[in-house]
Amino acid sequence: MTAKDIYVTQPCLPPLEEFIPYLEKIWASKNLTNGGPFHQALEDALCSYLGVEHIALFTNATIALITALQALRINGEVITSPYSFVATSHSLLWNGIQPVFVDINPQTLNVDPNKIEAAITPRTTAIMPVHCYGHPCDVEAIQTIADNYNLRVIYDAAHAFGVNDENGSILRHGDLSVLSFHATKVFNTFEGGAIICPDAKTKVRIDQLKNFGFVGETTVVAAGINGKMSEFNSALGLLQLKYIDQAITARQNIDALYRKLLDGIQGISCLPPGCEKRSNYAYYPILVSENYPLTRDELYKKLKTKKIHPRRYFYPLISDFSMYRGLHSAHPNNLPNARSAAQRVLCLPIYPDLDLTTVEYIVRVMEDA
Ligand SMILES: *Cc1c(COP(=O)(O)O)cnc(C)c1O
Repeated sequence: MTAKDIYVTQPCLPPLEEFIPYLEKIWASKNLTNGGPFHQALEDALCSYLGVEHIALFTNATIALITALQALRINGEVITSPYSFVATSHSLLWNGIQPVFVDINPQTLNVDPNKIEAAITPRTTAIMPVHCYGHPCDVEAIQTIADNYNLRVIYDAAHAFGVNDENGSILRHGDLSVLSFHATKVFNTFEGGAIICPDAKTKVRIDQLKNFGFVGETTVVAAGINGKMSEFNSALGLLQLKYIDQAITARQNIDALYRKLLDGIQGISCLPPGCEKRSNYAYYPILVSENYPLTRDELYKKLKTKKIHPRRYFYPLISDFSMYRGLHSAHPNNLPNARSAAQRVLCLPIYPDLDLTTVEYIVRVMEDA
């Protein structure tokens, strides 16, 4: 039916001509970075769109995660999910922190709060859970444990742009939350990220850390990094924000069609909708079980022969990469649910410009297995 390759995602871009006036302003002002007017305007616009009080923009989410840990002076051991993108655990290693992997809940694919306590040691200082695919973690259970053991909570919220629960943004939970604005994410600035902070004081510290640790012109108070978002990326973000609701609605329609069409296929199960009130439909993961005629990898290969390119997010598990697999908590017996999900999951194409006839085509290929 289609000759074009269909990728798991395709970046969302605003009309080019609408971006030109932003570029003209940057060229005229020669204000390219270091917290210029577009940087300020995007922080304000995101606070109001997301319904949060304070946000610090970053060049990407990985640097933001690394900085979030530094801002709270986290050290020792941090409990985290093996079922995520590798940057989650890498941010710990970059701070000399030991990741401690805890298994996931097989339904939500988020870290299982019931298994956190057993992983706490005297060296544990924080929990870094992931709102996987944008579905909220059990934030209340996690906060209760954190309060009982005096631990900080930093959410990897890279997938969770615009997700709300009953009371507003899920980004307000925990001590800090980190968003990614990478090209593949729901909201993108080509590259970018942000930390949601609870108070102005924390934001000041984070802003210092993302600017080499400078306080004023001649004083440096920490070994900060260069994590600043440029005016180009900030301006692009402002324009992207005008189209974000439209983009999420398009994703929602694709999600609904997949859900309907896949319903009848034996051995394919969709992730149940999360507990969120407003989703962002960032990913469309399916689980391939023994009742399906093909294994997950056979289905993956078959789709590829039809120029459909799903992704095995998240396979391999982070805990299987060489720099992690020697850890006690990385042992396969410790992570049966994560292991099973990594072997069965496939993320199907979903992005605003994906037309519904292509979704029907993808499902037909899966039916013909
Ligand atoms: C994309 C992603 C990151 C990294 O984001 P960058 O902006 O590319 O650095 C971190 N964690 C998760 C879960 C991600 O999906």
